[in-house]
Amino acid sequence: MSIHASSSMEVGIHETRAKAKAKRKRTPSRALVAKPSALRSGKAPEEAGDIEDFSSEDALRIRSSLLRWYDEHQRVLPWRTRSSGDGEEEEEDRAYAVWVSEVMLQQTRVQTVIEYYNRWMARWPTLRLLAGATQEEVNEMWAGLGYYRRARFLLEGAKSIIQEGEFPQTASALRGVRGIGDYTAGAIASIAFNEAVPVVDGNVVRVISRLMAISSNPKETSTVKTFWRLAGQLVDPDRPGDFNQAMMELGATLCSKTSPSCSACPVSKQCRAFLLSVSNPSVKVIDYPLKVAKVKQRHDFAAVCVVEIVEVLDQKLLKEDNNRPRYLLVKRPEQGLLAGLWEFPLVLIDEKDTKQNTRRKTIDRYLKKILELKNCNVNMREDVGEYVHVFSHIRLHMYVELMSLTLTGGSDLLVNEEESSTVTRKIVDDLLMKSMGLTSGVRKVYNMICDFKKSQLMQRAPRTKTRRSIP
Ligand code: SF4
Repeated sequence: MSIHASSSMEVGIHETRAKAKAKRKRTPSRALVAKPSALRSGKAPEEAGDIEDFSSEDALRIRSSLLRWYDEHQRVLPWRTRSSGDGEEEEEDRAYAVWVSEVMLQQTRVQTVIEYYNRWMARWPTLRLLAGATQEEVNEMWAGLGYYRRARFLLEGAKSIIQEGEFPQTASALRGVRGIGDYTAGAIASIAFNEAVPVVDGNVVRVISRLMAISSNPKETSTVKTFWRLAGQLVDPDRPGDFNQAMMELGATLCSKTSPSCSACPVSKQCRAFLLSVSNPSVKVIDYPLKVAKVKQRHDFAAVCVVEIVEVLDQKLLKEDNNRPRYLLVKRPEQGLLAGLWEFPLVLIDEKDTKQNTRRKTIDRYLKKILELKNCNVNMREDVGEYVHVFSHIRLHMYVELMSLTLTGGSDLLVNEEESSTVTRKIVDDLLMKSMGLTSGVRKVYNMICDFKKSQLMQRAPRTKTRRSIP
């Protein structure tokens, strides 16, 4: 699993071996790591010391041991088996595969990504085909993976590369493409184009922290720079792509967060955290890297109204319509969280306004604004439940209700995707709802609605409709 270093961080990729060498000569930055004297005495470092470079002997040993282990134990993953030739076309093909997979792997498990990756490649097997896709199609394909900005940048990046006419082949050139940060640039350049540049993701941070027993805050910019410097010293000049993948593979498998398998590790002899833990039982390898308190999540609240149109009393439409249940979807603004994605009508509210009456008034005002519904009756309106959707920095408490309408006119609403003065909306039937790409939050709400309707069917005898209008 890959976690990108933030693109906003001022970190340096070592573009060439010469540059890496020059950087190694710099005065080491602030004291952060166990000094050799502490290692020899078996004491855990109490105070940070200067971060040392890898010695050239250690770097050589780590390279050869890790590559040998990787050759034997690497997982077979679809993006690794794509285009092995050295021709320009094969390289670009591989670069595209690495790009898509690495972007998908950010914050997402490998097992989940495999399915998405295979579907993506079946639909857009080349960068050129992807560049011809619409944002809507890409969002659909991405639905459920989260962090939708990644999908938008991927498409924008593909379009710009096709427009420019060639795939950038170095990390520094790749960083000029929209959405490609230091990590992705390093991954593409080393794996597809054999450039000896490092990558630093969460797995590499963990492995290097342990190899060098680095006890400083891994999120601090100065420490992040140090990880890039150290990773640059290790990269194998002949097999940079394999070496980078081996580092990430080690972090994803043997050198796991909570239960590393040091006895099976190919680089345990060069691992300072492991050597410390052997000589001093109070030291544990999982003490590295330092655990940093997570940023506190914000709690947001929202009223969500799933508007279901169950019946259309409109002769014009009845001829061709089978009266399937249909649902109203609204497109989110093109900027901000979940930009440009479809959702059920949703209004953010204050925590104090989560009571049913207040929520409904808020939703009614919103629906009136976006729907201009004049000819309809409300058959049923009931609360379905509360669902908390977790984003990286927000816990969104959604209060979900179902409102079932009979439309007695104005059936144009059902046919087209329409842009009103405030929003773009569309109505989709239940068959399409099941198959279309939806964000996991919207999918969850839809499943709540389906469960609710099933339980209603089972529990209640058919009842008389009470016809009233939206207040
Ligand atoms: S010896 Fe243990 S802690 Fe060190 S790199 Fe290997 S698995 Fe990780």
